[in-house]
Amino acid sequence: MNIRELSGVGESVAARLERLGINSVEDLITHFPRRYDDYSNVTEISKLKPGAACLRVTFSSIATRRVRRGLHITEALASDDTGSIRVTWFNQPYRASSIQNEQPYYVVGEYALNRGRFSMTNPQIERVSDFPLNAHRIVPKYRETKGLTSAGLRKLVHQALGQLPVINEHLPAWVVASNKLVDYRSAIVQMHFPDSPASLEKAKKRLGFEEVFRLSLAALLNKHELLSEKSLAIPFDKKVAQKFVAKLPFALTNAQRRVAWDALTDIGKTQPMNRLVEGDVGSGKTVVAALVALMAMSKGFQVALMAPTEILARQHYESLTKIFESVDMHTEIELLVGSVKGQQRQNIYANLASGDLRLIVGTQALFQTKVVMKKLGFIIVDEQHRFGVEQRKKLQAKAGHMPHVLHLSATPIPRSLALTLYGELDISLIDELPKGRLPINTKLHSPNSRESLYRQAEVELDAGRQVYVVCPQIVEGDDSSLLSAEVMYEKLKSGHFKSRRVGLVHGKMKSDQKEAVMKDFKQGKIDVLVCTTVIEVGIDVPNATCMIIEAAERFGLAQLHQLRGRVGRGLHQSHCFLVPSSSQVATTRLSALETTHDGFKLAELDLRLRGPGAIYGTNQHGALDLRVAKLSDTKLIAAARASAQAFIDQGENLLQYPQLAAKVSALRAVTNLN
Ligand code: ADP
Ligand code: MG
Repeated sequence: MNIRELSGVGESVAARLERLGINSVEDLITHFPRRYDDYSNVTEISKLKPGAACLRVTFSSIATRRVRRGLHITEALASDDTGSIRVTWFNQPYRASSIQNEQPYYVVGEYALNRGRFSMTNPQIERVSDFPLNAHRIVPKYRETKGLTSAGLRKLVHQALGQLPVINEHLPAWVVASNKLVDYRSAIVQMHFPDSPASLEKAKKRLGFEEVFRLSLAALLNKHELLSEKSLAIPFDKKVAQKFVAKLPFALTNAQRRVAWDALTDIGKTQPMNRLVEGDVGSGKTVVAALVALMAMSKGFQVALMAPTEILARQHYESLTKIFESVDMHTEIELLVGSVKGQQRQNIYANLASGDLRLIVGTQALFQTKVVMKKLGFIIVDEQHRFGVEQRKKLQAKAGHMPHVLHLSATPIPRSLALTLYGELDISLIDELPKGRLPINTKLHSPNSRESLYRQAEVELDAGRQVYVVCPQIVEGDDSSLLSAEVMYEKLKSGHFKSRRVGLVHGKMKSDQKEAVMKDFKQGKIDVLVCTTVIEVGIDVPNATCMIIEAAERFGLAQLHQLRGRVGRGLHQSHCFLVPSSSQVATTRLSALETTHDGFKLAELDLRLRGPGAIYGTNQHGALDLRVAKLSDTKLIAAARASAQAFIDQGENLLQYPQLAAKVSALRAVTNLN
């Protein structure tokens, strides 16, 4: 239904609605309140106490006076059977003419001491009716925009709910019944104008359930589709595994063994593996992937490792070469990135096509160029979000079968969230760090004592170590542009670190520029690197032992944990200093980092404190469309997942549920770690 069909919506209101992302009546009724104020109880004036209250009154003695230029004061006496109070409006002269004597009104406002006496200033009022929108109820508060307040939105939503001919049920009836959900229409109504806190809870449960159900269904359908494809089985060979493990300079942790076993079992089947290995920074994911790769190579398969950037690809190439030296396989590996050119590149192409080259490491370009591989059996994808079903389909077309895929991720995703977001992946956790790691000494620091912080950094620099200074991404109109990477760079370069080599890297630089700076830092040509969060997850500069994070309160705990994982990668004790943007900032949340070194615990904490957006960028969160569901509600998630599974098991046809189908197919595109 067109939004213009609502009365009161002309050009200008429609434009304001559009600013809120509301383009249709359906958008309007799913523009859910951000919060609610409970004004369901009407207070008698004789019992009125300071604070917010809702009264039921009639007005008398209404008068407006102009105090001075630009200041009108309207005063009135509001009375009920038990007493009277004074109400005052500033610069709302229309009140005097619009209020009718004898007519009962609700008044909602803050009863407080003003210039020596108690009164209400600028209260909201509404004529008493059977269905008040702004008083005598749980009142919804919306995200507003200039010229469109919550009161205005309430009116429009109420009108829309009354006028929409039908609000169809989205879910199959058996899903609604078996989960004891309220129907879609009443859930929508109760979200806006709840009868009681309990009915609001039921509405949230219903809509949250649907969100998770949709996500789960999208993931399961993807999984289903993938499982109908065929892969080539790579049988397990005990001798190969034993020889590899025996030659490693360390013993694998139990977690590494378990996860390697998960993956080795998967690739032994003709169903394609699609597994996510999650492990904190430094937990040793590379060795696990290497073992699986070795198994594939030893059976005559080719393996490709895809990293998000050239520098990470190079790093993987170097560490795999080192790992495979012990089993004399290091000559089987090549690196294919932009800077590899000419004859060398041609040779790589030829050897991949002939099958002589068995392990290729590169960026996404590996799969886009005219690379032909004779027998690609296994793909390792480092750091999530960059490899989805579409890419895999392209590969399948090339190879004639689905390759097995192992995703590696250092992002700690709490289990409930992972199951919902990545239901199509099997998940293995490396939840144990190799023994003997020094935890990173993490300290909160007052912004007023940066000098002492820099002195501590100097100690590291004097010892030949390197330092990161991380600044927040500055968005336009931001008040703390003083903390932007550019400004900080200029300040440090000509100020405290004048005698050091200071570098700058941030998101607005071109990617080859970025990579050049990172390379210089890696090679020790830069002492202090001022950067934004563009410093890649996984970047390995063992000589960097100190990180200063500015405006730390702007980051999620999990993100801070990832950032700090850039130090502490060598033998030296490392330090991470968290500096809030001002001394007024509350730091209790941040102090969790001083004592907790477990990424998963921090992510759980984040999820509870700030929602999933803290772990994933807001964009991705937005695309996933989780507006109502609380991902901490594990019961709800489990129920929604079970119903989605039942939907598939029962052979339900999605096309019979058009609204559901539209949303699910949109989700199928984004849940694929694209
Ligand atoms: P990440 O999970 O961050 O990718 P890596 O695989 O890069 O971790 O491993 C980090 C470092 O730990 C490497 O230098 C690796 O050789 C070492 N390592 C891996 N597994 C173990 C282990 N079981 N014991 C000791 N060191 C290990
Ligand atoms: Mg790694």
